[in-house]
Amino acid sequence: MNIPIAIAHPPAHFKLKALPITFLAIIFVALVCVSLMTVEVWRSWNARDIELRDTEIATSNLARALSQHADDTIKEADTVLVGVIERLEVEGTGGASLERLHKLLIQHIAELPQLNDLSIYDESGNWLVNARSGPIPVVNNSDRQYFQYHRSHSGRGPYIGPPIRSRSTGAWVVTVSRRFNHPDGSFAGLALGTINIDYFKTYYESFDIGRLGSIFLSLNDGTMLVRRPMMDDTIGKNLSNNPIYRDYASRSAAGTAVMKAGQDGVERLIAYRHLEKYPLFVTVARSKDEVLADWRADTYLHLFGAMLLTLALGLLGWRLIHQIQLRLLAETDLLRVQESLKTLNRHLEQLALQDSLTGIANRRQFDSALRDEFSRAMRTANSLALVMIDVDYFKQYNDFYGHLAGDECLRQISKVVEASKNRPGDLAARYGGEEMAVLLPDTNLAGAIAVAEKIRLAIYNLQIEHPNGPAGVVTISAGVDAFVPVRDGNIPFDLIQAADKALYAAKSAGRNRVCSSADLH
Ligand code: GH3
Ligand code: MG
Ligand code: MG
Repeated sequence: MNIPIAIAHPPAHFKLKALPITFLAIIFVALVCVSLMTVEVWRSWNARDIELRDTEIATSNLARALSQHADDTIKEADTVLVGVIERLEVEGTGGASLERLHKLLIQHIAELPQLNDLSIYDESGNWLVNARSGPIPVVNNSDRQYFQYHRSHSGRGPYIGPPIRSRSTGAWVVTVSRRFNHPDGSFAGLALGTINIDYFKTYYESFDIGRLGSIFLSLNDGTMLVRRPMMDDTIGKNLSNNPIYRDYASRSAAGTAVMKAGQDGVERLIAYRHLEKYPLFVTVARSKDEVLADWRADTYLHLFGAMLLTLALGLLGWRLIHQIQLRLLAETDLLRVQESLKTLNRHLEQLALQDSLTGIANRRQFDSALRDEFSRAMRTANSLALVMIDVDYFKQYNDFYGHLAGDECLRQISKVVEASKNRPGDLAARYGGEEMAVLLPDTNLAGAIAVAEKIRLAIYNLQIEHPNGPAGVVTISAGVDAFVPVRDGNIPFDLIQAADKALYAAKSAGRNRVCSSADLH
């Protein structure tokens, strides 16, 4: 028999089974890739927050340092003024007194680099003395704001005025002034110290605040004194409409803010702080873009690396999934081959136990079944029966009809013998030539005789013509034996021999009959 072993593609249910593993692998690879990118984005975002927080702290610290610096700078000039005023009030504004004061002022201005000039004005605004060595310019400064302030305010404290251009040097200066009085308490004039705006500017330029960063020093009313980067038109300008002044610096002593400037649209991180001793405040602003420039470059590099890694992982995962799929297909094919081989083995086993002419069990199967049933009958002490069948005058049948017809006759007889089985344990076999045997477990002699008689009658009833036989039709003779085998007392051959003897007896008695071992006694 030709049994093809086909290695076909896997049936649908194999694909369905394979799907979850592939699906899980895809999910796993996708999860790894997404996690990698998520961690990278989270790390970058965190780094950005840290960078902004650090900058906020650094900017606040710078604002604190600059406010301290401005406080100290003004304080130094103001301290000189306090001394000068005391002398003026004690010694008066006579020629000798002014002469001594002149020398003192020259000395002070040499010691304090921030000072542009130190001047004394009388109650009419006339210049009495300054810190220069040349002649005193004949200028009346009664128009200056600081003069008008002191004349109209009896307070003895310092006054910081808006920035002005010095009439003696032409430089932009911040004024610090104090009033001095006549002995009766009336206004006698003022002492003025002018601080170079350049002094602050130079100091402010020594800090690295980026190209778009800026620093202001302003009066508490919003008047700008110093600005970095320096722009002449911004000196003296009022900032009261600027949100940093309006919403922050005018409301609290110090703080930070993030805002977009109206003019250039640049978003800045801003820190401001008021001076402790004088009515001024400092503002430091840094461009957010510039602050984040390094972070951005770092993030691009990291993201690029993470993307490359994700791509590599994705490709690797894809290869892996492909390999898994191939393996699953190979496994499926193997299973199919295994299944085919099993089927083939079953067929071969069947062939080895089957008679090729009649299709019923062959002698090999009969021998094996006899051994097994004999042992079982011995163990269970049950009766085992055997019917041996031989076709009568079959040689003559062959001679008359030929071997092919003989074969066909044997097939018909075998069908009848096979059909005689009542129970699953019964076995009908071709014993050899035109002899057949029926093994009947758990059957006594009477039962076996009944089976044999049924077979004999059924074959007779087939009415297969046999002109050379005495009955005119094909008949069989059967010998039957049955007994309960005894250990060490019987062997399987005993049963065959007894049934064979009974068959011989049936032949001798005229054929077409059933004889049993009981008939022999
Ligand atoms: P009897 O049994 O009644 O004594 O007479 P018989 O003519 O049947 O004698 P025997 O049993 O000795 O002869 C068996 C014959 O069966 C011999 C052989 O030609 C024939 N035979 C055996 N096997 C086959 C077979 O497979 N096919 C065919 N066509 N004939 C077979
Ligand atoms: Mg024979
Ligand atoms: Mg015969």
